[in-house]
Amino acid sequence: MSETQRNIVILGGGTAGWMAANLFAHHLGQAVSVTVVESPEIGIIGVGEGSTPQLKAFFDTLGIAEAEWMPACNATYKTGIGFRGWSDAPGFESYFHPFPTDLDGFTAPAFFVNAYARRHNADAWAHPDRFFLPTALAARRLAPLAPDHFPFQIGYGYHFDAHLVGAFLRDHAVGLGVKHLQRRVVDVAVADDAVTHLVAEDGVSIPGDFFIDCSGFRSVIAQGALGVPFLPFASNLFNDSAVVMPTPRDPGGTNCQTISTAMQHGWVWGIPLTSRTGNGYVYAAGYCSADEAETELRAHLGLLDSAVEARHLKMKVGRVADSWSGNCLALGLAQGFIEPLEATALHIVQATVEGFVAAWRDGGFSPTHRDDFNRAIAARYEGIRDYIVCHYRVNRRTGTAYWRDNAANHELSDSLKAIITCWFTGRDLEEEIARQDIAKYYSPASWHCLLAGYGQFPDPAKLSRDAPLPPTDMAAVDDFIARCAMNFPAHDEALAALR
Ligand SMILES: Cc1cc2nc3c(=O)[nH]c(=O)nc-3n(C[C@H](O)[C@H](O)[C@H](O)COP(=O)(O)OP(=O)(O)OC[C@H]3O[C@@H](n4cnc5c(N)ncnc54)[C@H](O)[C@@H]3O)c2cc1C
Repeated sequence: MSETQRNIVILGGGTAGWMAANLFAHHLGQAVSVTVVESPEIGIIGVGEGSTPQLKAFFDTLGIAEAEWMPACNATYKTGIGFRGWSDAPGFESYFHPFPTDLDGFTAPAFFVNAYARRHNADAWAHPDRFFLPTALAARRLAPLAPDHFPFQIGYGYHFDAHLVGAFLRDHAVGLGVKHLQRRVVDVAVADDAVTHLVAEDGVSIPGDFFIDCSGFRSVIAQGALGVPFLPFASNLFNDSAVVMPTPRDPGGTNCQTISTAMQHGWVWGIPLTSRTGNGYVYAAGYCSADEAETELRAHLGLLDSAVEARHLKMKVGRVADSWSGNCLALGLAQGFIEPLEATALHIVQATVEGFVAAWRDGGFSPTHRDDFNRAIAARYEGIRDYIVCHYRVNRRTGTAYWRDNAANHELSDSLKAIITCWFTGRDLEEEIARQDIAKYYSPASWHCLLAGYGQFPDPAKLSRDAPLPPTDMAAVDDFIARCAMNFPAHDEALAALR
């Protein structure tokens, strides 16, 4: 990093823009001057209310306590995602995808042994839900806050109001010295493949050394002015639309899981906040109209006769070829989007900024560091995408063309093909994940949960009946999980204690 202070200009004040502003100001301090330019008339997308555990790392990095930000953003704890109705297989109508925790070392091996045995046609319990503590916490509506005497950290994420989190992060960034300009940008000046300045509608010029494009799906700088190619994922992720409606918060207590319920032509999220439940039907416009989707969502929520307004959104699913191009970094929706099924968008925002800061620190603007960085980010997108595609590929619903076409889709990456082949030919899935070095995107536990959770096991006629290890005694697993869960507080009480 040069001794001279660099001007970083961030175009966009959505969650991505303000997360980036905070991270740059925090990591680079006086080495940079950070300015965020945003247009209140254009506004933010205003969805994106579920996270992975990475968001905890984000707030921890900035030194912001949960008591400071969670009540201000109507936030709740999240221990994972409950998938409902994605499989018609008896006994597999739902399953839970838990966030990883330190405790997995004790219970995941038992699950792997049983799943392996079940794949070899032994009579072994192989549904994921009895093996993981976060699943038990979600089922009992307990907060994932390990008490002091509990010897393991429990990983968790959050749900939050997108508008409130944006406002919170804006105020925090401004407190760190970030400048905030409210202007609509109408032009991007480029010379020799580098951006020199942005031009606001009042003619004001906003110069910078480095530009972060956080302008949402518009991607004003990267895809717009610099012409960075966009690589769509439409061949294996069909969803391109969403319709969103809130419902009152559950009077029976606040869930600490996102619920993903399969619908006729997609799925609905249910995200519990302290103020409301956020709901959104993510669907493929090639299979149903916006009106049909809204009617199906209203019926699902019991709002057929309600005056509550629905918001309709379009999604651009795919990624830019290079996140870092010239003196511009594309971030957030301007960089790409892999549909919201696993709530990974902000996770990628954070990983991109952290990776970019590391590359910049190590090598300045060296092309080698830039190229390594771009390769790593592209691989992350593809790795996460494959896991999400796998949900659709191994779904076991047959009622509509949407689900049948997804299950019959052969547009899979070589990596995903190898995972699916490994599973159905009864080989060791952990070994395959290690061979491909993809556990950094989704762990063996996540892959096992997904494949076993839909009740997808090989055809017994094609495999030997011999299981190499005897299945695990489930009573011991149940007892262990129940004893662990007893240590955790009720979710609503934990939320009240933050206020
Ligand atoms: C249906 C749906 C569900 C989602 N669910 C999740 C989820 O559960 N979890 C998750 O992590 N993510 C989710 N996402 C993604 C998430 O919404 C985004 O990653 C996140 O909100 C960040 O958006 P952003 O900041 O990139 O863009 P935006 O929020 O769209 O912000 C763009 C900013 O750019 C500004 N801007 C644009 N053009 C100009 C201009 N010409 N001049 C000045 N300013 C300009 C706008 O004013 C705005 O401030 C979801 C997305 C969709 C579509």
